[in-house]
Amino acid sequence: MSQALREFLMRKAKLEKLFKWGVRWSLWPVHLVTSCCGVEVAHTSGPGFDAERWGVLPFHTMRQSNVILVEGTITRKMARVLKMVYEQMPEPKYVLAMGACAVRGGLFWNSYHVVQVDTVLPVDVYIAGCPPTPEAVIRAFMMLHNKIKGQPGPYIEPTKVDLTPYLPPPPKPQQKPAAQAA
Ligand code: SF4
Repeated sequence: MSQALREFLMRKAKLEKLFKWGVRWSLWPVHLVTSCCGVEVAHTSGPGFDAERWGVLPFHTMRQSNVILVEGTITRKMARVLKMVYEQMPEPKYVLAMGACAVRGGLFWNSYHVVQVDTVLPVDVYIAGCPPTPEAVIRAFMMLHNKIKGQPGPYIEPTKVDLTPYLPPPPKPQQKPAAQAA
């Protein structure tokens, strides 16, 4: 749909409510599985929890998806891929950061090459846990439903903690060996 047609339908034809209803029940996530959290998403989509009841239908290409579900650790190298995938998704699009690793680095919080997802993309909902349960994943999608509806919440923003005092001191520069005596 062209941008002009979409704007016409939204403003002139007052179809915004219908459009949002359609988006809410068509949340098709692209799974960016980098670590163990991905296993719980398989569980969420299985017959036990059946997330498809809420319109959460796993898709295989980012060009047909409107949610990016970041499942696990994001390294500096992977951050570039994350951004590339996000840029290929059509609007409107949403980001869910799943698990302690995606939210704040988790076990690898002080690693030199692990980044937090919200430093790369705008995160809509954070999912706490290691790994988060299928119930937590479904709750996150419900929170996204509310956000699209214009009634956001309840959100729990992760607390920003300054971990610098707990980091090991930087290594001392190595001294050059003294010139050997002749
Ligand atoms: S949050 Fe836990 S389960 Fe998820 S990727 Fe990190 S270590 Fe694995």
